Amino acid sequence: MATNRTFTMIKPDAVENGHIGAILEKITAAGFKIVAMKYTQLSKRDAQEFYAIHKERPFFGELVEFMTRGPIVAAILEKENAVEDFRTLIGATNPAEAAEGTIRKLYASSIGENAVHGSDSNDNAAIEGAFHFAGREIF
Ligand code: ADP
Repeated sequence: MATNRTFTMIKPDAVENGHIGAILEKITAAGFKIVAMKYTQLSKRDAQEFYAIHKERPFFGELVEFMTRGPIVAAILEKENAVEDFRTLIGATNPAEAAEGTIRKLYASSIGENAVHGSDSNDNAAIEGAFHFAGREIF
């Protein structure tokens, strides 16, 4: 399996609840190398663009409100099979359905406020990473 990259955000709920350190520890302990990272806050326009694929969904407004209400940690992670392995590490979208030990099982409170984002394909990982980081910020 080739080494590749995925994109993640520690979402506002997990930041508010003081879980940045514990989540980064889980990520690095699972073998992911951090190749870019920043503490930032999405504007409404950023969130609408980032989640544009969901714009017809009934929860879109709620999602944009949530993702913009406070700071996030954005990062690009590198590992063999990064996209799939990171989705396994974070668990199902709904924390009630997430496997034991996954980041969402441990730190998420609801299907909307679910602590972390993980790209769902290599193509989206590249698009999402480029959305947040300039080339000189990626190591
Ligand atoms: P994932 O983040 O697991 O890839 P999706 O791409 O389906 O999940 O959804 C993107 C984000 O939208 C979710 O992580 C969650 O924050 C939010 N979301 C998804 N489904 C719902 C829902 N039914 N109600 C509220 N928010 C939702």
